Amino acid sequence: MKKPLRYAIIGSGAAGTEAACQLRLRDPESEITVITASKLQFISRYDLPRVFEGVDDWRELLVYPPEFYEDNRITVRRNTWVAGVNPRENKLNFRHKEEMSYDKLLVASGGGGYMPEALREFLPYMNPFSTFSNAARLRDSLGKKGKVLMLGSDMVGLDLARYLTSAGHDVTVYANELLFWPHEIKPEDTAPYVKALETMGIKVVFGRKPVAVEPVNSSSKAGKYTRRLVFEKGKAELANVVMPFYGLMPALDFMIGANVDIERGLLVNPELKTTNDRIWAAGDVCQIWSPEENRYSFYYGWNNVKEMGHLAAHNMTGDNREIKTAQTNELKITKKGELHSPYWEHD
Ligand SMILES: Cc1cc2nc3c(=O)[nH]c(=O)nc-3n(C[C@H](O)[C@H](O)[C@H](O)COP(=O)(O)OP(=O)(O)OC[C@H]3O[C@@H](n4cnc5c(N)ncnc54)[C@H](O)[C@@H]3O)c2cc1C
Repeated sequence: MKKPLRYAIIGSGAAGTEAACQLRLRDPESEITVITASKLQFISRYDLPRVFEGVDDWRELLVYPPEFYEDNRITVRRNTWVAGVNPRENKLNFRHKEEMSYDKLLVASGGGGYMPEALREFLPYMNPFSTFSNAARLRDSLGKKGKVLMLGSDMVGLDLARYLTSAGHDVTVYANELLFWPHEIKPEDTAPYVKALETMGIKVVFGRKPVAVEPVNSSSKAGKYTRRLVFEKGKAELANVVMPFYGLMPALDFMIGANVDIERGLLVNPELKTTNDRIWAAGDVCQIWSPEENRYSFYYGWNNVKEMGHLAAHNMTGDNREIKTAQTNELKITKKGELHSPYWEHD
């Protein structure tokens, strides 16, 4: 009898989970293991702002109930960090020193927020927004009508900003060249898009460079505020929360030494295969060769990421499908004069 193939997937986000579901459909006898650093099962990050609509229990945000994984014989190893990949022996090395063999590997490890070197030491005084506990902490720090200062601010930040203003909070964006990232908008073309943000109640300030974030004592003159944002020049600003949004950095440290090509992301062909015959990549971690653009590009957003997981699973099971690399993904302004990005669309 043929031995079932062992598929390993690093990452339980939209890309990794979609791939696991497709692999189960296409190879019913296989062993599928999803390895994730996350403590919880797959929660869509796009749904995190629902904490501002009263969602108080992470179970309400699970994309699939726990029994789904059991029913589909998908093993999810949570709170497990991959520290390295050994391509000669086809093994994953976990941070806790265990090894795991695979026949085929999908890397869907996504990315984390990029932080400029000069601001890294102030991270403990800033609020991240990538997990349910981050989101709940943010809501608690803001109370009924809080004040948020956003640094950057990319489309992930602006996605959150629109939920925050709808929930009655005060949001100011200290913009730099990463405003609207990954959309590439020339500085001379930003005015209508900035106006659209202002229509949505988001204040945008240009030309002020943040250099430090400090904690302040809320019983002092600062009143209810607990953070001070210091700029290179001019008066500091007080707020409840300071949040960085400087674009995403692919999470792939553990792939160094895995004998695959890396630029900023994991380099793959339009079939999502790396330079190693047994390794594919999908989602925010990979940079895909675009014949139209004659370069490797990232393809962000829920629809792209999910499609990559789908397609990678097909190709890992014998297909030769190519991802559509000719895309426009334009930033738009709605009839109501508000901003709309295709990167905000999700199911
Ligand atoms: C609030 C919010 C709003 C967003 N809105 C937008 C938006 O509007 N538009 C947009 O383009 N993007 C948005 N994003 C980004 C969005 O999360 C991604 O585009 C998409 O979810 C990426 O999916 P992914 O499966 O590639 O990776 P992720 O969802 O990031 O999943 C990565 C997985 O890999 C795991 N992992 C990483 N490293 C390791 C390791 N070493 N060992 C084990 N496991 C590991 C993680 O635990 C996680 O399970 C948003 C993100 C947030 C937080």
